[in-house]
Amino acid sequence: MNRLLQSRINNNSNQHGSSPWSLEYFTFEPGEERLREALCTLGNGYLGTRGAITESPASRIHYPGTYMAGIFNKLESNIAGKTITNEELVNCPNWLPLTFKNKESRKFIIPTLQNIVTYYQKLDLKDAILIRNYEIKENSGKITTIETRRIVHMGEMHRVALEYSIIPENYDDEIIIRTGLDGNVENQGVERYGDLNSLHLASDQVGSFSENGIYLSVVTNQSNIKIVQASSLHITCNGEKVNLISNVTKHKNKAIFQEYKIRVRKKQKYIIDKNVSIYTSQDKDTQDPIKDAIASSRKCPDFQSLYESNKMIWSDLWETFDMKVEGDTFSQKTLRLHIFHLLETASIHNTKLDVGIPARGLSGESYRGHIFWDEVFILPIYDFRNPKITQSTLLYRYRRLEQARKYALENGYKGAMFPWQSGSTGEEETQTIHLNPKSGKWGPDHSRNQRHISFDIAYSIWEHWKIAGDLDFLFHYGAELFLSIAKFGASLSYYDTEDQRYHTKGLMGPDEFHERLPGASEAGLKDNAYTNIMIVWTLRKALDLLSILPNKRRDELIKKIDIHQNELKLWEDITGKMNVIINKDGIISQFEGYFNLKELNWKDYKEKYGNIQRMDRILKAEGKSPNDYKVAKQADTLMLPYLFPLSELQELFNHLGYEFNKDILEKNYHYYVQRTSHGSTLSKVVHCYLSDILGETKQSWKWYYEVLNSDINDIQGGTTPEGIHTGVMGGSINIALKRYAGVNLMNDIIHIDPDIPKHWKHIHFRIKYRDIWYMIEIEKDKINIELSSSKAKELQKKVIIRNKEFLLNLNQKYVMSLEKTGGYMVKKQILIVDGDITQSEKLKQNLESEGFIVDAVYHGDNAIMTLKRKWVDLIISSINLQGGMNGIQFLQELKEQKDFQKIPVIVQTSKVNMEEIVNNMGVELFVVKPYQMADFINQVKVLLEK
Ligand code: BGC
Repeated sequence: MNRLLQSRINNNSNQHGSSPWSLEYFTFEPGEERLREALCTLGNGYLGTRGAITESPASRIHYPGTYMAGIFNKLESNIAGKTITNEELVNCPNWLPLTFKNKESRKFIIPTLQNIVTYYQKLDLKDAILIRNYEIKENSGKITTIETRRIVHMGEMHRVALEYSIIPENYDDEIIIRTGLDGNVENQGVERYGDLNSLHLASDQVGSFSENGIYLSVVTNQSNIKIVQASSLHITCNGEKVNLISNVTKHKNKAIFQEYKIRVRKKQKYIIDKNVSIYTSQDKDTQDPIKDAIASSRKCPDFQSLYESNKMIWSDLWETFDMKVEGDTFSQKTLRLHIFHLLETASIHNTKLDVGIPARGLSGESYRGHIFWDEVFILPIYDFRNPKITQSTLLYRYRRLEQARKYALENGYKGAMFPWQSGSTGEEETQTIHLNPKSGKWGPDHSRNQRHISFDIAYSIWEHWKIAGDLDFLFHYGAELFLSIAKFGASLSYYDTEDQRYHTKGLMGPDEFHERLPGASEAGLKDNAYTNIMIVWTLRKALDLLSILPNKRRDELIKKIDIHQNELKLWEDITGKMNVIINKDGIISQFEGYFNLKELNWKDYKEKYGNIQRMDRILKAEGKSPNDYKVAKQADTLMLPYLFPLSELQELFNHLGYEFNKDILEKNYHYYVQRTSHGSTLSKVVHCYLSDILGETKQSWKWYYEVLNSDINDIQGGTTPEGIHTGVMGGSINIALKRYAGVNLMNDIIHIDPDIPKHWKHIHFRIKYRDIWYMIEIEKDKINIELSSSKAKELQKKVIIRNKEFLLNLNQKYVMSLEKTGGYMVKKQILIVDGDITQSEKLKQNLESEGFIVDAVYHGDNAIMTLKRKWVDLIISSINLQGGMNGIQFLQELKEQKDFQKIPVIVQTSKVNMEEIVNNMGVELFVVKPYQMADFINQVKVLLEK
């Protein structure tokens, strides 16, 4: 790692501002602009727009990019004497253009280092808004303050909007405002792809509507998808519409611009409100994207209203997805940034789309917007919070099952083989050649041999089913996918009569540095341990799945997938005889032949190159091959203990006749960690997770720090500007949940065994397991936990905390002491029903300061409603209530309802004459007002202890 980067990381606690809810920048740094653009992307699952300035088209510094989920296009390019085809997530027309100039200036304003006087940029994660304010001083001496705000609406997926305010600080003048929709864009966000054709858009239509409306329609030149943007502009000053001196519309090829001349006065604020509606011909909710985009833009509310409604949707999302960490602003900020980006990439709108989760989100062009296996790191986040989003990504695979069957067949296999890189059709999109930027040479790319992708998909199906428990989904879609993949797994395995073991060959594991054995003429490796174990796991689960499927569905699927009886025997056989190579020290060989490879001189390479994450490129540029060395790009064998708990791995290995235990895991961790260059950010996630399991907390925290830093500080030195990494983002949240909070699902029970980092004071989040929400708040010495559900049939749920079982009532708050390992206390919940608001608030505060959880209501009806949705240990009622029901009627109502009869009641009133009536109604205590608060609270405590 270079020193600059290291010092950036060391200082990062005050970089990006001190708020745990935002990313802030206080100066303009041209060299960092592309990184900030990627990090400040705004999206809603349907589309994402990089946080680029509105004033500039793509340039050396700026790269405005808008990407829409599932909008791909294929182009041919001639490279190294070959014609290659590339499918890319298309850079859609730029909807941002907005700038101005003073009437005598030649050029429209673009903020630069030279003209910026002050600068402030903020990505507000909570409100999902990008703010950028700057003061510009022109050569003429004119100073203008510019304030901009931008949103991509999470509720209404077609809507994006920006507000651009101009304040002339020291002049009165005529200015010309320029707005536009620019389709003259290409996919040129990744320098390495510079030799490839990048022109995806062809012109279709442009035009104007209403007073200030323009629209642009372009079409992708191979996939033939129409992309339409319609925009309306409103200019106001002090709440009044600004008169236009003139208004000109110009179109050029695939772009349309409008210029407005207005008169501005010193120190006045001119607010330009630009809304844009974006539709495509691929959307299910439109027959006519041009018509609908125009109609939507015409009736679009103003920016402030859009901002408010967007903020509300995000507030609900944060309620569900947030992980609150206290004591470490950097971790808090970064975790939120990661959650934010995941939700921008895959949101509830995905249920209306047919898309997977691109490895680089909707924030850049690296990896061409393709979908890899990174979802194994990401989907658990959704499984535990909004499983419908996982389902939409699994359905994306389901809809490409036929293609996967075809792909298997073409390669001589059965079942369904999914492509390593997937795009629109589900065909293999992995390049056959790639450029080594270190040497400038194109070389073969064999990464498509990563057949493990299919089993990773199977893993995601199973995890989803385990957590969400949606049998309908499993039976309808999951099972067909799973069993088709299992069939492929079995056909990928072959039996060797000599060693009486099953093997695989011609593959690549997750470590992409190893393509073949030294000297081998053909690419592909034998017995990649990760793939082999994944096959075994898939086959075992496939057999389990067949046993839980309803008979009719099982028969249907057996017929459809063509699973023969002897095939099932084969599956069974493979689960006991798959080959894994393990040496006498218990080290699992990454693949056959790994132990014979040369050791790399890590020290020398580190000294010579500093950053050696991409050792493959370094070796190739030196005329050597990574195939010859024990050097891995990322965790390969070690992926197994990342995906499976130790006990499950042990069982898988034992069934194959091999040993596996924590000691073996530890040895393998130490063996491979020394031989891995972490050329993928995913590697750090896995090593962080494993070192924590092994009790190496300090080391694990170091990894975690790098995981968190991966994107926010572009730790790989240049990859984040090309798009954020969704896998590492998912990984960071998983680690916080599974390792630090220690929340894991085992044998259908939520286990909690926290070990939060020393400087974290507490971590607070909610997860959903099947129909129950678990609100969990972990502090150093205690856990606050509450379970709730609107659907669950049972009223109690088993939870295991530090190996001790608890049966928790739903809707009741518990406090578990962690020090006494398992000792726990239930926080008692009290409901005050009193028409006297001042009195009941006072009582509430006093009771809360004694550690009770208290609700206060003033109406009898509200009290009944509260009782229906909450657990209550004690009711303190008064005779005087607000509304139609008095205290006596309320007590009668309680007596009549079976669920409430047993709740003890204290009646507190100044009406002494009511004592007899009230006592006859079976209340526990009658207390006359006024009373001494301390005495009253003592009586409450005595009653609750009973
Ligand atoms: C990694 C893969 C990953 C891909 C996309 C590559 O660098 O080696 O494991 O799937 O990036 O994130």
